[in-house]
Amino acid sequence: MTSGDKLFGRLLKRTTIAVHDLPDRLGSPTSGLHLYLNDDGGVVQIAGPLRHLLAQHKPHDKPLPLSTYVQAHSTLAIEGRPREWQGLLLDLDFSGLGEQTLHMRGWVQPLGEGWLLQLIDIGDLLHERQQARQRDDCQSIAARIGEQVRACSQTRLPDIVGEQLQMIAQRWHIPCVALALLDDEEQGWQVYRRYRAHDAPNLWEDDQRLGTPLDSLSGAAPQRIGGQPGFDEHSRVQALFGNAEGFAVPYNDERGVVAWLLCAFYPVDTAAPYLSERDWTALFGALAGPLLGRLREHQHQQQLERIEALQSLLGSGWWEIYAERQRVQLAPTLAAALQMDTGEPVLEEWLAHIHPADRDELRSRLHALQQHGEALTLSVRLAGSEPAQPATWYRVQGQVSGSGANRRLVGFMLDISDIQNQQQRAAAAHARLDNLIASSPAVIYVQQYREGALIPTFFSASLQPLLGWSLTDCGAGALVEMIHPDDRDLYFERTRQLLREGSVRGRYRLRDRQGSYHWLLDEARLLRDDLGLPVEAVGLWLDVTEATLAAERVKNSEERYRILVEDSPAMICRYRPDLILTFGNRPLATYLECAPQALPGVDLGSWMSDEQRGAFIQRLAALTPEQPLSTAEISLQLPGREHAWWVWSDRGVFDEQGDLIEVQAVGRDNTELRRSQQQLTQSAKMATLGEMATGLAHEINQPLNVMRMAIVNVLKRLGNGDVQIDYLTDKLKRIDAQVQRAAKVVDHMRVFGRRSEIEQQLFNPAYAIEGTLSLLAEGMRGKGVDLRISETTFEVQVRGYVDQLEQVLINLMVNARDALLSKREKESAFNPWISMYVERDEQHVRLWVEDNGGGIDARLLERIFEPFFTTKPIGVGTGLGLSVSYGIIDNMGGRLSVRNSAEGARFCIELPIASDA
Ligand code: ADP
Repeated sequence: MTSGDKLFGRLLKRTTIAVHDLPDRLGSPTSGLHLYLNDDGGVVQIAGPLRHLLAQHKPHDKPLPLSTYVQAHSTLAIEGRPREWQGLLLDLDFSGLGEQTLHMRGWVQPLGEGWLLQLIDIGDLLHERQQARQRDDCQSIAARIGEQVRACSQTRLPDIVGEQLQMIAQRWHIPCVALALLDDEEQGWQVYRRYRAHDAPNLWEDDQRLGTPLDSLSGAAPQRIGGQPGFDEHSRVQALFGNAEGFAVPYNDERGVVAWLLCAFYPVDTAAPYLSERDWTALFGALAGPLLGRLREHQHQQQLERIEALQSLLGSGWWEIYAERQRVQLAPTLAAALQMDTGEPVLEEWLAHIHPADRDELRSRLHALQQHGEALTLSVRLAGSEPAQPATWYRVQGQVSGSGANRRLVGFMLDISDIQNQQQRAAAAHARLDNLIASSPAVIYVQQYREGALIPTFFSASLQPLLGWSLTDCGAGALVEMIHPDDRDLYFERTRQLLREGSVRGRYRLRDRQGSYHWLLDEARLLRDDLGLPVEAVGLWLDVTEATLAAERVKNSEERYRILVEDSPAMICRYRPDLILTFGNRPLATYLECAPQALPGVDLGSWMSDEQRGAFIQRLAALTPEQPLSTAEISLQLPGREHAWWVWSDRGVFDEQGDLIEVQAVGRDNTELRRSQQQLTQSAKMATLGEMATGLAHEINQPLNVMRMAIVNVLKRLGNGDVQIDYLTDKLKRIDAQVQRAAKVVDHMRVFGRRSEIEQQLFNPAYAIEGTLSLLAEGMRGKGVDLRISETTFEVQVRGYVDQLEQVLINLMVNARDALLSKREKESAFNPWISMYVERDEQHVRLWVEDNGGGIDARLLERIFEPFFTTKPIGVGTGLGLSVSYGIIDNMGGRLSVRNSAEGARFCIELPIASDA
């Protein structure tokens, strides 16, 4: 029975009583509304407590029809007359006070000559029915919403939620609606989705952060938001709702309120009078519940994926041991890394993948975990890696979780190969370093920084053998006492610099236990902490006593040599193979007219002619590591002096490959000597010329005689008038030949008399022989000396001065002539001769001058090349001829020698053949 039926039953009983009470009048019924109608349906009398609620509760004097009391739509039910309404239930809506409507239900029954219309209020009944209908409606909508939200894809979820909000808003005429979720991370609320009618103000946005005002709402039941702005905590909520009337429905789960349905500009009680708070809660629950479920599920899924990714990245994974079954389960990533099956392998199979060296320990620790709940942390290697390869290391960690029936043995394995192998390498490097420190000849030390001072805290073991001290001997100020008094300032400055600049290098002396001082090379570096404050100094001492003393010795000796070089009157220099000077001393600078410091970079060859320079470089090229020395006389064109002659000694310096890298040279100016020698040669030459005057006269006389004869003969023929042209031509040609011959002799004399060229020239020695003969041959023959000249000549070239070689030959021939003539004075039958011939081999050409003058006394052979040595009477011999000749040949790189042959003296001029010819 519904509450409506009960009410109806009660009413019926009472009405029955009331009817008996109303034979002519209605009386005062205790409930409902009683209308007495006449036969035409006009209202005659109104009674009952509800009559006060009617807008028009007094009948008119003239009965008005019932239709004037009820609202228009009810008139349908009361068409016709009361008689026709009998047995019908009449639902009539009366106009009440203040625009209200009274929903009434009733029926008519005859009373007297009229009709009694008894009515009861069915407003509650209707309201409840409306409510029930709305609730059903609401439930089916809620079910649909839940279904939609549960069934859609993850990506469509926000849109679907948006659509559901729209549907709710449109169904219950909510202008602005939003679904806000608790954002765990932000500790506040955020709009998930919102909807607004097109004519509603834009209050919220999707994903908008709302902050914390909603926290102040009590989450137990839906909340009505007042429309008045205020200044308390609620004012923030009201601001959130646009300071208009609003409504908020919470959604609770085990964590409390986790979602709100916000409805703005919404007077819920009038806009949706039939929906109870429970309905709203249920409706919103149908949306928020599945949505939150979906979101959490999604989050969970993502978390799982992240963990999965992390595990495979780290090469790690969880494991769980089922102790009773002796089986283990591994995370898929871990199983893959160990190349094991997923599923539930037996425990021993897992252990078989651990290196034998670590396996027993792991087994025992797992046992301890299982038996006593001892947490497990162990680093293990995997079995089966190649011996040469670095091992694969895992950290195995495990613990007991839960208790009783829920007791589980779980843990994880993490690939720590990188760290472990690095640690091992670091340990090995450390060990090597320790070893190195221990065996180092240097002392390695650490000084700790304490309030501006550096206190020794460590010395390597090498301190003891080196200085005899230990760390305790050197503590607290004792170190300074060991430093040589002269070096203490250095040491204090070293500490200051170390603290200031972070590193220092220096030398000082330190006393050893025996009292003698060692020179120490100190190199230190300051270590600072993260804030840049000094922590300690690390450094090393190297005993450099030997080296320091040696360096001092070298410095001293270098100084001596430097003074020697600087003060030497000789020119001393170093230059590169390309003749660029790298050093030159003062005398050299003086000759080159510049300052000594300007010498480096100067080209030594710039003072030489091309030819001299070529010869110089050629001479250097002949230097070898085995024969690094060479001495030569070089000539240069110096500033302010026409020609300089230097005797120059070079010493090549070679690298390991045997290549010349530098030349050290010592030179002496030979110009003066060379000049006097030249003068000497010249005067000797002039003497020779003088010597030859007789021969020359003869030489000129001979052509003159021939010409005179020819002229006499021609004149004779002319006198006879017997002159043929042919005869004349023949004679004139002979005269011309003789003129040329005389001219040649004179010409040659002039050439011979000149000073020699400065530069040596290349020439064939045959020219010298030819020149000599042109000057001497006739004279010799005139004196009855037989000249035996070998015709052999060679196409060879020697280097020197052709006139000087000629001078030598003349000297030799004149000496031979003297010897021959003096011999003939004693033996008149004597047949003097001079023989001259040439021979050559690979390197040399030899000119021989031999006579049959009896030779040279063996005791004098040694001395004849000395200057001024002569056996000839005063005024005749000068004693210079052979000595000058010797000098000339020597200057040409050759050799003049003499021997006695069977009949006389035999001189030999040996000259090197010029290789560049
Ligand atoms: P000079 O001819 O003015 O004496 P030299 O130096 O030319 O000076 O000769 C030195 C000496 O050597 C001569 O005085 C002579 O005794 C000796 N001499 C040189 N040539 C011969 C020779 N062909 N036969 C013998 N004695 C010689």
